[in-house]
Amino acid sequence: MSTSSIDDLRNHIVAQREGRKVKTGLCELYCLPCRKSHLPAGGMADCKIDGNKVMLTALCGVCEGIVCKPISLSDLPEVRCKLDLTITRQEAAL
Ligand SMILES: [Zn+2]
Repeated sequence: MSTSSIDDLRNHIVAQREGRKVKTGLCELYCLPCRKSHLPAGGMADCKIDGNKVMLTALCGVCEGIVCKPISLSDLPEVRCKLDLTITRQEAAL
């Protein structure tokens, strides 16, 4: 038995993953105290939709400070795949 087929499979998976590595920073929010972008704590974020504007609010995964970031509505499906979002819609009602 050789392990080459397993290596091939692993390489294939890695290659696939690399191929999908588009906009990895999309789910990371810039944290001022950390001066770096981090994934939110617990992979959770609040998401406020106001028309075609979307604001993500989360806790920094490192210092637990509040971080927020505006994204576009078209980015939402991708972010939603990666983060556990609590989505609220800004109602136009008075
Ligand atoms: Zn932080």
